[in-house]
Amino acid sequence: MDTERFGGADLDVVVVGAGFGGIGAAIEFKRLGFERLAILEREDDLGGTWHVNRYPGLTVDVPSTTFSYWFEPNPDWSGLYARGPELKEYATRVADKYDVRRHMRFGVSVDGARWDEDEGVWHVTLSGGEVLRTRFLVCATGFLSQPATPDIPGIEDFAGTVVHTARWDDSVAFAGRRAAVIGTGSTAVQVIPELATEVAELTVYQRTPIWVMPKLDLRFPPAVRRLFARVPVTQRAVRLATDSFMEFLMVVAMWRYRTFRRLNVSAAQAAWVHRFLSVRDRRLRAALTPSYDYGCKRPTVSNGYYRALGRPNVHLETSGIERIEADAVVTRDGGRREIDTLVLATGFDVWKTNLPAIEVIGRDGRNLGKWWRDTRFQAYEGVSVPGFPNFLTLASPYAWVGLSWFNTVEYQQRHIRRLFGEVARTGGGGFEVTAEANARFLARMEDLLGDSVFRLGNCASSNSYWINGRGEAPLFRPTSVRDAVRTQDRFPLTDYTFR
Ligand code: NAP
Repeated sequence: MDTERFGGADLDVVVVGAGFGGIGAAIEFKRLGFERLAILEREDDLGGTWHVNRYPGLTVDVPSTTFSYWFEPNPDWSGLYARGPELKEYATRVADKYDVRRHMRFGVSVDGARWDEDEGVWHVTLSGGEVLRTRFLVCATGFLSQPATPDIPGIEDFAGTVVHTARWDDSVAFAGRRAAVIGTGSTAVQVIPELATEVAELTVYQRTPIWVMPKLDLRFPPAVRRLFARVPVTQRAVRLATDSFMEFLMVVAMWRYRTFRRLNVSAAQAAWVHRFLSVRDRRLRAALTPSYDYGCKRPTVSNGYYRALGRPNVHLETSGIERIEADAVVTRDGGRREIDTLVLATGFDVWKTNLPAIEVIGRDGRNLGKWWRDTRFQAYEGVSVPGFPNFLTLASPYAWVGLSWFNTVEYQQRHIRRLFGEVARTGGGGFEVTAEANARFLARMEDLLGDSVFRLGNCASSNSYWINGRGEAPLFRPTSVRDAVRTQDRFPLTDYTFR
């Protein structure tokens, strides 16, 4: 692509976010020949989630063979479920290998971006006031990037140490402490077994139990890793198995619930057996049993979580937190537990301050966040939005496919490849998705969701961040990964207008 022809902009492409989404998009733009490319990252290094999250016990909960770029297999994973720091190393290695790191600017917060129709450029405003002018803008800010702090009365008066899992502070010592963890999501399931062995007392405040499956926590000994490196097809074979398993689980348990309700129930029964074998106390087991269907909310895998809750120094509280005092947590049943350290495993805000994570103003002053909220959350093929020329959004409505984020990133790379092939063929001016194509895509997603667990299952008590305040579930593309990938090679190019 002739990137120098459009002299009005400082840059051809600005990517906001240097996580796996931003790295993937940048790799694709480099392949397409864009060199005037900047990747802006508010943190001090790349890796997104895997740079920010450093809590003890951090591992992937999707098999690593699947949780990696298809085009960059990593023979060095220490096991089927790699540890968090390995993901950060992998991100660094990929960014260096594909030469995208030199385009990154760290410690740069983006306030917002505004489309200038006359000039055909995006004005991207940084928090220090600097404005970058770019032809194409890509938002790769992730779904889980804004840590959520619970709005519990008295929390600001707590006199002890407070740590959010997404802002882990290594200097906090847990040995001998009386700690509490609020939350029982995927993060809590990983951090609780680690803390339980260190602290004197640990109280876990559960609002909604999570579905927990046993974890096939295989280690890859050096001989296996050497085999993966020397004969890559062997790792591909393992990936085929893990991809197929994840795909099956997602499609059957979540998207084809109408037809395969029985298999969804089987997944729940497998989790029931796991709970039964891990927790001897009947009352504790009952307290840990979800009252909503498998698949309404992110399930997780762990062999240590239930066992940790059975330890004598660990207590599960389920009656709800009424308030927090300077030295204690008080529950609705009148219970009061003195603590000195409070761990917030309370997840991320997806619906209020994310989607989009920055202010984006398109043609005719259309504000993306407002428009989504005033109409519906929507994005054609999970990447483009009418009224927002030359703009791609990666953590978008109906973007997330499969449980591995890499599936999403890679079908979006495919979309970019095809779209920008046409942009180049039509003179390089730019693109905008048509309102009709967007409406058709949204209608298809709606139709598919009609068969899903979100519509037909019992999700009422799940408190799932996959479902928004209006009862809609617009984060996921309710299709197989295979469908998402194939569609990017086939979508009609007439779904876009080109300048
Ligand atoms: P999460 O799933 O949103 O869980 C947050 C937990 O905090 C929930 O149990 C929630 O209860 C509880 N909570 C929030 N506010 C509360 C309040 N005011 N009072 C009491 N409890 C409160 O967050 P997460 O565990 O950090 O996980 C987020 C996502 O990150 C996961 O779904 C997953 O996609 C990803 N993740 C991935 C991995 C991996 O290995 N790939 C690991 C960890 C996390 P309710 O359920 O009742 O709202």
